[in-house]
Amino acid sequence: MKTIRDVDVSGKTVILRCDFNVTIIDGKIASDERILGSIPTIEYLINNNAKVIIMSHLGKVKTKDDAEKNSLFIVYERLCELLDGKVIFSSATRGPILEEKIKSLDYGDVLLMENTRFEDLNDKKESNCDEELSKYWASLGDIFINDAFAMTHRKHASNYGISKYLPSAIGFLILKEIEGLDIILHPERPFNIFMGGAKVEDKLDIISKLLPKCDCLLLGGGIANSFIGTIYNVGKSLHNDEKKEELLQLLSTYKEKIILPVDLKVLNNGDTYIRDIDKLDDNDNALDLGPKTLSIYKDIIKASKTIFLNGTAGKYEEHGFEDGTKEILTAISSSNAKRVIGGGDAIASSEYFNIHDFDFVSTGGGATLSYIAEGQMKCMEE
Ligand code: ADP
Ligand code: MG
Repeated sequence: MKTIRDVDVSGKTVILRCDFNVTIIDGKIASDERILGSIPTIEYLINNNAKVIIMSHLGKVKTKDDAEKNSLFIVYERLCELLDGKVIFSSATRGPILEEKIKSLDYGDVLLMENTRFEDLNDKKESNCDEELSKYWASLGDIFINDAFAMTHRKHASNYGISKYLPSAIGFLILKEIEGLDIILHPERPFNIFMGGAKVEDKLDIISKLLPKCDCLLLGGGIANSFIGTIYNVGKSLHNDEKKEELLQLLSTYKEKIILPVDLKVLNNGDTYIRDIDKLDDNDNALDLGPKTLSIYKDIIKASKTIFLNGTAGKYEEHGFEDGTKEILTAISSSNAKRVIGGGDAIASSEYFNIHDFDFVSTGGGATLSYIAEGQMKCMEE
């Protein structure tokens, strides 16, 4: 893949795909790691005399309501603080207003376009990599730089689509990710993975590809609940029960590698209980790992030479369910292994608990998992 240094951006209009899909809590950006991560590429383009059009998605946009909640304007305000020169915002994702604003740019100026997924209100054009939209966006610039690492596992109009119609290269953030993730692409063993979180559908598919590459896969969150749910009642807990057969197959093929919780912390009618995994009732909502599980997981983490964490052990944002996420992060950061974490919420939780000692922090969630599992990225036309 070409890198930003391999193309001549001077005097060009450059479309830069960033990943500004930040977590917003109480109207504030919870972690600006992803914005900060894009600054080297943006500054390089400014300093090399390009006009910069930045595109990014933010959240999912299925309704007009979603659009209101997921405006990139909040990111624009942060960008203005971080960059010296002129930064303008276009609330239009296509049409004359956007085009006029682009025409008004001087070399070294930056335009941030509103959430690319506003085009999903129009027949899911962005997420379905619509041909017309891809061509239209590509027509706004001369060169395409992709620096949205967290989207490298998806073929959308604003990454793969544009790359089909313009000379394209990766930015410094993706380059840094490729270098940093080498720790887990070529791991020292034992190589153990902790995987938790909520995006059950997205992650289940990847698990089968990760299992051959790691020694132990420790599970938490909705992923663990989904596996447990193939055998026991998980009540109201977050889980996926559409892939039971596949999960049971994995449990039998990788008996030794898949490590499931033995106890869970549940919420039931406003009260909290610790339950063994075979004792949950219909009203239980498992929101964290239990103490016996944490002790087993910590021992495995301690014995690792390479460890990777994605997602969170529990619903750490909810009072009373912070322990699992905090203790797993602490165990990893204080281990002697090479330590890599990745994922929007994995990073947000590490910041929330002020745990920062890792060898590499990958900004991708699904993208990181997919890259480790497949050893390549799908986001650009080769
Ligand atoms: P990442 O962004 O690191 O890839 P995810 O988005 O998949 O991680 O998951 C993080 C989210 O999962 C957090 O918001 C957390 O509250 C939620 N979560 C974790 N465990 C549970 C659980 N048992 N029940 C409900 N939500 C959970
Ligand atoms: Mg997340």
